[in-house]
Amino acid sequence: MSNPLFDFEIVVVGGGPAGLGAACAAAESGRRVALVDDTPWLGGQIWRGQKGRPRQAQEWIARFQRCGAALLPRTSVIAVPRAGLLLAEHDGEPCEISFANLILATGARELFLPFPGWTLPGIMGPGGMQSLVKNGWPVPGKRVVVAGSGPLLLAVADGLRQHGAIVPGIAEQAPWRNVLHFGFGLFAHPSKLCQAAQIKSRLIGVPYRCGVWPVRADGDSQIRHVTLTNGQSTWTEECDLLACAFGLVPNVELPLAAGCQLNDGFVRVDEWQAASVKGIYCAGEPTGVGGADCALVEGQIAGYAAGGQPARAQALFGRRATWHKFRAALASAFALRPELKTLAAEDTLLCRCEDISLGRVRRHHNWRDAKLQTRCGMGPCQGRVCGAAAKILLGWGMESVRPPVLPARVRSLILKTEEPSTALAGQSNINP
Ligand SMILES: Cc1cc2nc3c(=O)[nH]c(=O)nc-3n(C[C@H](O)[C@H](O)[C@H](O)COP(=O)(O)OP(=O)(O)OC[C@H]3O[C@@H](n4cnc5c(N)ncnc54)[C@H](O)[C@@H]3O)c2cc1C
Repeated sequence: MSNPLFDFEIVVVGGGPAGLGAACAAAESGRRVALVDDTPWLGGQIWRGQKGRPRQAQEWIARFQRCGAALLPRTSVIAVPRAGLLLAEHDGEPCEISFANLILATGARELFLPFPGWTLPGIMGPGGMQSLVKNGWPVPGKRVVVAGSGPLLLAVADGLRQHGAIVPGIAEQAPWRNVLHFGFGLFAHPSKLCQAAQIKSRLIGVPYRCGVWPVRADGDSQIRHVTLTNGQSTWTEECDLLACAFGLVPNVELPLAAGCQLNDGFVRVDEWQAASVKGIYCAGEPTGVGGADCALVEGQIAGYAAGGQPARAQALFGRRATWHKFRAALASAFALRPELKTLAAEDTLLCRCEDISLGRVRRHHNWRDAKLQTRCGMGPCQGRVCGAAAKILLGWGMESVRPPVLPARVRSLILKTEEPSTALAGQSNINP
């Protein structure tokens, strides 16, 4: 049996701000475009879910619906078997998607750094917790400590309180001087300044401590308290939940599988957002963590460039330069302090999927060796959590990526991609 084949001129992977911007720009340039996302919704991490989307999100989703691009939701791209072809799963069933140009807008995930107790139930990333709460997970009356790094901590604390949680404090690892400097820099980005001021005003009364980070979590079947430090003293906060992550890690697995080169952990792109492989573009968080507005403008540039409209792409270069300054300010203000590399003890789990401690992993020379000898990074998350942590704690890079880039059914992998496929060209939306 052959896989069904979807055939498009331009395929965009990722339905967040970058992917939406790219798909609209490419389709408005007159190309036959498909937007593929593994979730049921458009909007990516920031605009995920159907209810309560901000106006900017509603406008972009409406523009997408008008632009004529096809939408392939619930479709995970798992491999790039050969040039011009993606292997994907739609609702668990394998399919192939062929393209002339590919725009990768795969976003980012949260960065978790291990500390004693970090795997206790009730501890999760702030962004992940926010998604659960937005989708109905009840938190009224729950004490939630928010910790880690980045402006997302404030947005999440605000959202949790709006859903009835008690936030006894926010612990930001970056020092005050960095955060203040970043805050003053927001005067160059009035929309961000306004957003930050609104969030801060709603958080009056919630302690926001800079230069503070978690050193351990304790509990029984659930976290009961977290120990925080400012480097001089330590104290504990009682809590029912801990929302903790140390910023974002770019999702570069699919770009790597497509052969794209990285630069300092991010996909290397030129001024047109073109990656090192001909016909492949990349936009949004895989090229640098700069927030939704940066992702939107990069996506549009990629879409116009792939769509053969260089002048329209070029007209956006100035806006992108502004957001790249914001991106650089984010990276420098919320750079991780060296103390975070020493939180985990030798028996602290590094790979929670396969139960492998930091001490066992550290005995090996590199990530590949450690994987082969211990199975770290070979569980369901496929190293997305522990690989990123190993990179920071041990300085190990990801040497290569193997398909599938997301968990997939064996059936999808054994179907021969060389066989002529059943063409579904011209098919538009598959039922969102
Ligand atoms: C969990 C989380 C929550 C966040 N919440 C907020 C917030 O509340 N406020 C805020 O300002 N910023 C938030 N951010 C940051 C925000 O994601 C970015 O600033 C911005 O949305 C980046 O846009 P993007 O288009 O580059 O990526 P994303 O919005 O991440 O979109 C990428 C999309 O690609 C899809 N995808 C990835 N790989 C594949 C694949 N192989 N096949 C198919 N689909 C794929 C993903 O499911 C996702 O929908 C959050 C980040 C994370 C990780």
